[in-house]
Amino acid sequence: MGLVVQKYGGSSVADAEGIKRVAKRIVEAKQNGNQVVAVVSAMGDTTDELIDLAEQVSPMPAGRELDMLLTAGERISMALLAMAIKKLGHEAQSFTGSQAGVITDSVHNKARIIDVTPGRIKTSVDEGNIAIVAGFQGVSQDTKDITTLGRGGSDTTAVALAAALDADVCEIYTDVDGVFTADPRVVKKARKIDWISFEDMLELAASGSKVLLHRCVEYARRYNIPIHVRSSFSGLQGTWVSSEPVVRTTQQGEKQVEQALISGVAHDTSEAKVTVVGVPDKPGEAASIFRTIADAEINIDMVVQNVSAASTGLTDISFTLPKTEGRKAIDALEKNKSGIGFDSLRYDDQIGKISLVGAGMKTNPGVTADFFTALSDAGVNIELISTSEIRISVVTRADDVPEAVRAVHSAFGLDSDSDEAVVYGGTGR
Ligand code: ASP
Ligand code: MG
Repeated sequence: MGLVVQKYGGSSVADAEGIKRVAKRIVEAKQNGNQVVAVVSAMGDTTDELIDLAEQVSPMPAGRELDMLLTAGERISMALLAMAIKKLGHEAQSFTGSQAGVITDSVHNKARIIDVTPGRIKTSVDEGNIAIVAGFQGVSQDTKDITTLGRGGSDTTAVALAAALDADVCEIYTDVDGVFTADPRVVKKARKIDWISFEDMLELAASGSKVLLHRCVEYARRYNIPIHVRSSFSGLQGTWVSSEPVVRTTQQGEKQVEQALISGVAHDTSEAKVTVVGVPDKPGEAASIFRTIADAEINIDMVVQNVSAASTGLTDISFTLPKTEGRKAIDALEKNKSGIGFDSLRYDDQIGKISLVGAGMKTNPGVTADFFTALSDAGVNIELISTSEIRISVVTRADDVPEAVRAVHSAFGLDSDSDEAVVYGGTGR
């Protein structure tokens, strides 16, 4: 008998029908002889609606109270799911994050899990119950206050519980059939990936792919928990994310290991670009700019420094950051303008980032050239470039992103012959 941790996202439990459908799936897993722990998100767009509600009451709600409010969303779905399972004749018990032993630090709205002590969950499943756990939430070790793990945090709850319970697999049920070679909402011919390494998945997540959160994949890699991403709307095999490639046996009986040269194309339109204009070209300037940004607790992504015009001795430094941090960054730099020494700031939130990811590019010359050729054939202008060993990213105009993603996807032979990408649910909110 195995132990399976399953996670169902908001679009899978959007209404009573969805909850009943998910209850059936959970019961099937139990009937297949497994112990089952199911982690559940809030129904549909509940979390967004609760945030809207809070903002109507107070523009800057206290973190502690916002967490209290938001965790109610997952409580609703966990209780309903337990009821639906009982209706099917099986025993189920629901647990809050705190009851499930999800212990976090005390940073409200984006707490980190520091320990998981799943004693109650273990007892519950050992007694024959299906345990339902509210995702996205925990309890602070120090303050004993309720915390949330940041948007989309239920995936992390699931992987953390899977690690603590030494589960055989963590199944993440979502509204698409798995991880695709590009966002199926943008590329109709995106292909489902059968297996992807933790490393490539981490790069895709860091580059804007939303199917799995970066933090969740990081956790899975650290504890070596295989993740199976699949749809709760179909019975298809999804995508395995693990350290070992999946070995498939072909019809002729040969063993086939899939190791794609390129895993996929990710895009991200959530960032903005700040350009610091007229920076003296001398040591220490970049340090003081980025110290200012770091002191404001802002994470940046790409950085580019232009060659200084010899005549002026001045240069420009551009960097990208989440749009949501734009105001804060500009304010912090303006405040330190005389200390840092620059002429002016430019802010541009009409940018997009396109990234090509694949471990194969380490050993295959020409990937970069092909990438830039595809973009130029599509008439897309490149503003910034950054690379890692297994990724190339460029910044372009936001408007160019869908076309650019499709062009690169085709150029690397990733298009599938059929339109296999189905988006089953979700409002994309
Ligand atoms: N309900 C939370 C959110 O919408 C957590 C999750 O869905 O994973 O962000
Ligand atoms: Mg959600």
